[in-house]
Amino acid sequence: MSWKFFEPPKLFFGDGALIENGALIGELGKKAIIATGKSSSKNGSLDDLKKVLNDLGVEYEVYDKVGENPSFEMLRDARKIFEIEKVDFIVGLGGGSPMDFAKALGVLLANPKLEVKDVYNTSRYDKMIPVVAVPTTSGTGSEVTQYSVITDDEGHKGGFGTEFTFPTLSFADPRYTMTMPKNLTMSTGIDALCHAVEGFVSKRSTPIVRLMAIEAIKLIKENLENAMENSENYEFRERIMYASTLAGMVIAQSGTTVNHAFGYPVTTFKGVRHGQATGMFLVETLKVMMEENEGIVSEVLELFGGLEDLEMFLERVGVYDTRIEVTDEDVKKWAERTSKAKHLRVTYGKFDFETVKSIYERVRDKLR
Ligand code: NAP
Ligand code: FE
Repeated sequence: MSWKFFEPPKLFFGDGALIENGALIGELGKKAIIATGKSSSKNGSLDDLKKVLNDLGVEYEVYDKVGENPSFEMLRDARKIFEIEKVDFIVGLGGGSPMDFAKALGVLLANPKLEVKDVYNTSRYDKMIPVVAVPTTSGTGSEVTQYSVITDDEGHKGGFGTEFTFPTLSFADPRYTMTMPKNLTMSTGIDALCHAVEGFVSKRSTPIVRLMAIEAIKLIKENLENAMENSENYEFRERIMYASTLAGMVIAQSGTTVNHAFGYPVTTFKGVRHGQATGMFLVETLKVMMEENEGIVSEVLELFGGLEDLEMFLERVGVYDTRIEVTDEDVKKWAERTSKAKHLRVTYGKFDFETVKSIYERVRDKLR
């Protein structure tokens, strides 16, 4: 048995995590960018962060134009504004989108000659401005991963991640997630579930990863519906956020499988949120993975009871409840790309063009 575990962020978790431990941010410098969306001003997180920075005497600018599925365009816009300033660190405040955006902007500001499209290619640079991550959703685990997912000018999602692109500090306070509406709670929770399941069945999974994945899966199975129905119940929010953080640590070690690649075009071209778009393929992709490694897939499915029980769970929370128009042309284009995804290197099973195409068709039939 041989494995590596690399998880550099200093992470504070729990009620008051940022307010109580935020003073550590002062070690990162005196000038910051807060990269965020609009919702952070409504869930208490932006106020907490401003208080922490004001108390430390850190100067900051709030860049609140980070949208869902951050793009090259958004990065170009922010780079233009901030390249003339000396920025010591960036706080990514919000869901996965602002946290991922902060990492990509951190790379671009640390490497002024780098073209935006080259953020994907980590061999072209070797540094990033320090990033602080403060999640307000519980799904991506970006606060504990090295990954940043960015959409290119053609609408394709791509990602990067290497040893120096983890956040330096992370503050995960479940209170910030209490304002998430039901469908966002579902989608982000299902993203975390996919991370745990995919990390478990990945060719790169390790014993420690499997331990964390099992815990995350159990927590999501037992608490996601409760969190969806009782949005302001702290206990449920805490369990789901803990699960999503664990699942983030899982993919930081083992990566995601091709299941994630299946969902990307459904998000960027049809507007279905990342977690939901990923979750709708899980049952079908696991079936193909099983053909090569039944043992590992069965082990994870046992936590649900079996494949049908997993599908029933996904159905119950509403993963298949979306009406989208998917043409045969869409299916063909998506299948061409997904059947060449780099995730295939770590995925069991044969996902050739025909198989991938038939999965897209089958899932299309499940949607309503
Ligand atoms: P998100 O795209 O960051 O945010 C989705 C929506 O939720 C936005 O409209 C946002 O509003 C709103 N929102 C955020 N926090 C809220 C809160 N507490 N209450 C109410 N609304 C809130 O969603 P996400 O699922 O967290 O992140 C998805 C992105 O992360 C995708 O681009 C995906 O590809 C990527 N991802 C990254 C990793 C990784 O390891 N780095 C892993 C999986 C996925 P505002 O925009 O107005 O704030
Ligand atoms: Fe994800």
